[in-house]
Amino acid sequence: MLGNIFRIMTRNRLRTTPVPGIRDAYTGIDFNLGYHVRSYHLDLNYRVGPNRLEGIATLQLDNWQDLPSMTLDLSPALRVTRVTATGSAGVPVRVARFRQSGGKLRLSFAQPVPVDTEFSLVIRYAGTPKPIRSVWGDLGWEELENGALVASQPVGAPSWFPCDDTPDEKARYEIVVTTDNPYIVAVNGTLLSKRSSGSRTRWHYRVGHPMASYLATVQIGEYIQLMLSEPDATVPVRAWVPPALRDSARAEFADQQRMIDVFTELFGPYPFNSYSVVVTEDELEIPLEAQGLSIFGSNHIKGDHAWERLIAHELSHQWFGNSLGLAQWNDIWLNEGFACYAEWLWFEHSANRHATVSAREHYEELRRKPQDLLLSNPGPRDMFDDRVYKRGALTVHALRVLLGDDAFFRMLRRYVAAGAHSVVEPVDLKREVLAAAAEVGVPETDVKRLWHAWLHEKTLPEFPR
Ligand SMILES: [Zn+2]
Repeated sequence: MLGNIFRIMTRNRLRTTPVPGIRDAYTGIDFNLGYHVRSYHLDLNYRVGPNRLEGIATLQLDNWQDLPSMTLDLSPALRVTRVTATGSAGVPVRVARFRQSGGKLRLSFAQPVPVDTEFSLVIRYAGTPKPIRSVWGDLGWEELENGALVASQPVGAPSWFPCDDTPDEKARYEIVVTTDNPYIVAVNGTLLSKRSSGSRTRWHYRVGHPMASYLATVQIGEYIQLMLSEPDATVPVRAWVPPALRDSARAEFADQQRMIDVFTELFGPYPFNSYSVVVTEDELEIPLEAQGLSIFGSNHIKGDHAWERLIAHELSHQWFGNSLGLAQWNDIWLNEGFACYAEWLWFEHSANRHATVSAREHYEELRRKPQDLLLSNPGPRDMFDDRVYKRGALTVHALRVLLGDDAFFRMLRRYVAAGAHSVVEPVDLKREVLAAAAEVGVPETDVKRLWHAWLHEKTLPEFPR
């Protein structure tokens, strides 16, 4: 039954627009073609002091073309010691050779795996994990003063496990981490069991919904748990924080539950089983989202609400980016534009500051900046440029102004529901906008003109009114 549900859910995730070429134009990394990973089971052994990781990754796959060989992404800092394969339904699958080069694990099979075979790979590996260098900085597994964190967007996942590291390939995950006491391990999903033996503890998590590799995370630190939700809440909300930050975290996240309630009303039900925030002892440049979990640095949690907008921003990524994933990185505005607009919506509801006021302020800022960026395809260097965030949010605001509040929020909830736990493209949003426009008598040409001006022209359009 579970297998069946998964088949139905995964049917949505395939790209509707095939990405040309053999290489991701944003990351510069070759695609791993020919198969899908249906699930990852990661059994990790981590020693905090020496920063030593040993892993056994079990991947369930099926292939959409005959496979004489295949590749996975894996950092050269981790060395693979053994790979075994198991076929199914009378199709034997045997790995003849494996080698690592250029950030890839390359496998050759003894005989080509015939198309549509379900098979599994067990990959044993070990090493000293370190972040992957990229144009966006160091990404992935990172040693902290006292623990470790993983923040991978967009190319850091191979720093800790072998994967098909592309945003549209969502899969199921089970993640088991064994590490030294008294460290706690926070991972995406639900904690199934926690078993101590001697000086070490084994934490077993299951992720209840398909997840993109860049959103998988492990957080290790000497944290205490604060419950931020009421005991009977449908979505448990917790914070993992260093003991010294208990009071400031309580103050900083006092509105976390209310934020979830506001966003639930605006966007539809919270998409995952729980929500956690992790605050590291270290300072972090920016907070980061993972699936069902967000990571903040101690510098963001002073108890003075200076970063409240980012608490709203990261939470909103659970809908925009995590449940509704990207098909390709050039659509990053679908994540960041909506997350930035969610900040404005939060202040509209909590502080009586209408989103129009925030929109106007940021519009004036954008006007003073170079207008040489295409929102629909900003290019890898400008992928996380603030103009993508702000122009993206202004695009959402322009749609709201065009449709009117009732039709806009109805449209938004339909878009979120239709794309839940899969991947979306701008065309999916446009389809919902056109349907909503038709319902309220807004001409199709007005939608198309707005869409073109904000997404496909560099010049900043008129302020939406
Ligand atoms: Zn964001």
